[in-house]
Amino acid sequence: MSEEWDVVIVGAGPAGSSAALAVLQEQPNARVLLLDRATFPRDKSCGDGLAPQVIDVLDSLGVGAIVDGWTPLRELELSRGSRTVRGLMARPVYVIPREVFDTRLVERAVSAGAHLAHHRVRDARVDGASVVIDEQFRTRALISADGAHSVIRASLAPTQGRRAIAARQPVARTPPARCPGTAGTPSNPTATSCMPAMRPGW
Ligand SMILES: Cc1cc2nc3c(=O)[nH]c(=O)nc-3n(C[C@H](O)[C@H](O)[C@H](O)COP(=O)(O)OP(=O)(O)OC[C@H]3O[C@@H](n4cnc5c(N)ncnc54)[C@H](O)[C@@H]3O)c2cc1C
Repeated sequence: MSEEWDVVIVGAGPAGSSAALAVLQEQPNARVLLLDRATFPRDKSCGDGLAPQVIDVLDSLGVGAIVDGWTPLRELELSRGSRTVRGLMARPVYVIPREVFDTRLVERAVSAGAHLAHHRVRDARVDGASVVIDEQFRTRALISADGAHSVIRASLAPTQGRRAIAARQPVARTPPARCPGTAGTPSNPTATSCMPAMRPGW
């Protein structure tokens, strides 16, 4: 016997948690189930940058305050080899570790009324007007927010899409005068970062 939910959202990352908030904003009494294979706080490979438009979306969902305590950044610097460009951005951005940001967001979704369950989804099938997930959860509205390797997409809408891999390298903010593993000093004498693990072409 499967549990019946108004909305099931697979994946409680930014997409899933925002979707839960949006549903509950429209229908405060909706029974919304958020499923995630991870327990929060959890990290995610990411540059952790939040564009101003992200803040606009968070504001529209009533959770703009989750960036509180983090410094808004106005200056952007791009470097390649010996070239560096730097300028002020029209609107500030934030850099918040996903371990923090995603946790705050999912907590807001739960506060708004979503039910968060730790569950790794393996399969989904259509059954009449409903979708049944792992023979355990049944809903008429399924939102797939389970990331780049979506199990839901593979189950319900398989494609031969392209695959990619990505990696990240945190950048030290207080480097030595010379960056270990690189040819010389940072290209910009005032720059405060080295990227020893970066390779040409990355
Ligand atoms: C190296 C790198 C740098 C990036 N830098 C930035 C950046 O600076 N700024 C920016 O805006 N974006 C950045 N991105 C993109 C950003 O990470 C993604 O766009 C964002 O994470 C997508 O959010 P999401 O909620 O759709 O998916 P995710 O954040 O991937 O969340 C998916 C969730 O689904 C869960 N899940 C997955 N499979 C299952 C399953 N079978 N059952 C249950 N749960 C499941 C996962 O545990 C996860 O919590 C970067 C990406 C990479 C790879």
